[in-house]
Amino acid sequence: MRIAVVASRAKIVRGTEAFDIAEASGGRFGPDALDVYDKWEAFTAWAESAELGPGVPFRPEDCDSPVPAPRQIFGIGLNYRAHQIESGLPAPAEPLVFGKFVTSVAGPVGDLVLFTDQVDWEVEAAVVIGRYARNVDEGEAWAYVAGITAAQDYSARDVQMRPAGTPQFSLGKSFPGYTPLGPALVSPDEFKDPDDIALSCSINGRLVQSSTTADMIFPVGEIIAYLSSILPLLPGDVILTGTPSGVGLGMTPPGYLKAGDQITTVVGDQTQHHTAVDVAVAA
Ligand code: ZN
Repeated sequence: MRIAVVASRAKIVRGTEAFDIAEASGGRFGPDALDVYDKWEAFTAWAESAELGPGVPFRPEDCDSPVPAPRQIFGIGLNYRAHQIESGLPAPAEPLVFGKFVTSVAGPVGDLVLFTDQVDWEVEAAVVIGRYARNVDEGEAWAYVAGITAAQDYSARDVQMRPAGTPQFSLGKSFPGYTPLGPALVSPDEFKDPDDIALSCSINGRLVQSSTTADMIFPVGEIIAYLSSILPLLPGDVILTGTPSGVGLGMTPPGYLKAGDQITTVVGDQTQHHTAVDVAVAA
């Protein structure tokens, strides 16, 4: 199962075509994507045998995030060992969690505005919740996941790291457009192993990050068990599961994005393209 959002309407993606969920289901599901995630179990049961009618060509550049307005967005910091070392921060004993604010969500293709001169890239696999989750066992966690999609956790390092000693991760990572998601949400059953998904980031064609989610310190099951032991996870909630090494912050000297840079982000078979633009130009 693959879900995308085009012009504020949730679609099923099959091959190169997208099918409108609300139209095909006679209004039972959608068109709002959150309605589909809220009814995920009934929706997937219906979709298995549904007659979808005519499709339209699916183009990533037309897509919004597959969940444009999640109720909660979590980020996991320092979840790959080599990235934790390059960050210069101590290894976490339990998942290091921050929030990203919903106005930072964007689509998979477009401009990335450089609001400061220290904007960095972080390719991440994003997990989207498909079922209310509270006190979930690690071994059961994947049953609460609607799917995985590509994400960037764009980060203004100057804002993220101040004040010294008590950094504000949530604000530095929540400028508008700094949480692009998509194009398509891919359900866990479409992966040979949903705990081993390749992810990479290239800047102007040069590979800067390349890893697999199998290298995570706290895998998806542990993250969901941990978060849901503290608060409920709601359908459509997004968890950015951390980034591997190779970010600009880890370079000597640090190297951040410049206007005109082309950022290509790949998670599984989902690809994002962003062009960095100067804030003065964007305004
Ligand atoms: Zn991150």
